[in-house]
Amino acid sequence: MSYKSVAIDGPAGAGKSTLARKLAEKLGFLYVDTGAIYRTVALAVLRAGIDPADEAGVSALLGGLDLKMAYGGDGVQRMYLAGEDVSTAIREHRVSGFASRVSAIPAVRAFLLDVQRKLAREGNVVMDGRDIGTVVLPQADVKIFLTAAPEARARRRLLELEQRGQSADYETVLRDIKDRDYKDEHRPIAPLKRAADAALLDTTNLNLEQSLEALLSLVKEKFE
Ligand code: C5P
Repeated sequence: MSYKSVAIDGPAGAGKSTLARKLAEKLGFLYVDTGAIYRTVALAVLRAGIDPADEAGVSALLGGLDLKMAYGGDGVQRMYLAGEDVSTAIREHRVSGFASRVSAIPAVRAFLLDVQRKLAREGNVVMDGRDIGTVVLPQADVKIFLTAAPEARARRRLLELEQRGQSADYETVLRDIKDRDYKDEHRPIAPLKRAADAALLDTTNLNLEQSLEALLSLVKEKFE
């Protein structure tokens, strides 16, 4: 039996995780947040004191990496590093920058490619990331490229950080978002780009509910 897959790609802060999770819930599919997997590798690199520019050092770490994913009863994806639940730790601001650097290393991408494809072979998935429709699941049944203006994404990210009790200022968040966009779009391997057959959804002027509605109608159209 072959399973169905929905690939959602786009830049940081476009609302991918929230929307992909809600979509997965509606469809009864497993939600796979691939950014969280990259973030877990980044956290391991950070904790090991390895410079993310040190490709050989990062590659050597991969072999001994004890990385696990699990889903709670609430369907929320949790990440474990050497048995420790790092789901909150990987959301820290400095881990974002590290993830963006570590994810440009070919050995890291090759290592995680297998992990991601295996998940899609084992069940119906909604997978979000940067290269799902282009590299990881080029045969996905539905491909969506979700984006929004950097300013709108920065405002959302700021709100999210504040809700988590973390302080940040708008200019810094906006600069980090633009910086991450640039790195993700310009890396030589699996750069962030819209697949030729991906539907574009721009959420700049849509709230969460409207975005979900738009996403659902795109997906239904493809599945019907
Ligand atoms: O989506 P999120 O912001 O959690 O991803 C963190 C970083 O991981 C991104 O900036 C990107 O560099 C990297 N990433 C990637 N490919 C993916 C998912 C995330 O390169 N499929």
